[in-house]
Amino acid sequence: MKYYTYTHATPSGDVFYVGKGSGHRAYSTKTRPLAWRQKVAEHDGITIKIVSRFALEADAFSHEMALIEMHREAGAALLNLTSGGRGVLDYCQTEELRAYKRDLMTGYKHPKITCPHCGFVGGATSTKRWHFDRCKGLRPAFKARPTVHGARIYLGKYATKEEADRVSEQFKGRVAHMPLDAVYREALEVRQ
Ligand SMILES: [Zn+2]
Repeated sequence: MKYYTYTHATPSGDVFYVGKGSGHRAYSTKTRPLAWRQKVAEHDGITIKIVSRFALEADAFSHEMALIEMHREAGAALLNLTSGGRGVLDYCQTEELRAYKRDLMTGYKHPKITCPHCGFVGGATSTKRWHFDRCKGLRPAFKARPTVHGARIYLGKYATKEEADRVSEQFKGRVAHMPLDAVYREALEVRQ
C-alpha cells in the first residue's frame, strides 16, 4: 500500500507532528516548517512511527485528519499548521509569518526615473519605453495645414504654433494661382 500516516515524537514520546505521505516522506527532513526544524534541533533525535497504511491517498488524508484531531484532544502540542487532509482551507498563518512575507514583498521598490524632455517621473521600465528618445515632448507638436484650392495641404510639424502658422500663411499666399499638383510638390520641398 502506497500511502501512510505517520507521527513524529520526541525521544520521551510526545507526539509533535502528524503527517501523511508515501515513499520516504516520513523520514525526510526536507520541506519541514521552521517550527518543526526547531523542535528537532532541541532534541537528540526523534521517534518516527508509521501509524497506518492505505491504498488510496484519500483514505490516508482522512486518517491524517483523524489523527491530528485525536492527538490535539489528548493535549499534544502539534506543530501541524492545518487540520490535515488535502488543501489548506483552515491554514492560518501567524502574524510573525505575515510580517515576514510582507517584508519580502515590500522590500524592493522599482527605482523611479525622470524623463529629461517632459519631466515625467515613473518606473524605469515603462518610462524608458515611452519617454527619453521616444518622448512626445521631443516631437514638434504643431502642424502647418493650410487649405489651398479647397484641399488640405500638410506642411509638416513645427515646434511652436507661431512657426506653424507662419509657414502655413506664407505657403497660402505663394500658391494662390498654382495648380494643385504643383502645390503638393512645393509642400514636399517645404517639409524637407
Ligand atoms: Zn518624456
